[in-house]
Amino acid sequence: MERRGFLRWFFSALLVALVGRAASPAKLPPLIDEKKNPEAVKIHFVQDGRKGKGRTDPKAYCRNCTEYTPLGKMESDGVGRCNLLTGGSVKSTAWCSSWVMNPDLYKKSS
Ligand code: SF4
Repeated sequence: MERRGFLRWFFSALLVALVGRAASPAKLPPLIDEKKNPEAVKIHFVQDGRKGKGRTDPKAYCRNCTEYTPLGKMESDGVGRCNLLTGGSVKSTAWCSSWVMNPDLYKKSS
């Protein structure tokens, strides 16, 4: 490929990549790995709240915890940020042993 042809191809590809990136929705942080994240291990965090060790309230999930802030949807699950965990996001249906009820959100949970 001639130099001029290569440059035309390169800048076209770059433009397509930049436009495509700008049009895509904001990326959500990846889900926290409950087995590898040391903070998560410490608070017995599980992405599937139903499997929480020591969880006694079947309505207790991250989505109705005071430490949870919703961020969006990943596949069909709601995901958010936890004030106690860094390095990723948590599912709205996750749980940990530091769960603290948010009364307003808890009432809305069925
Ligand atoms: S503190 Fe709350 S939001 Fe954070 S992981 Fe535990 S239950 Fe979920």
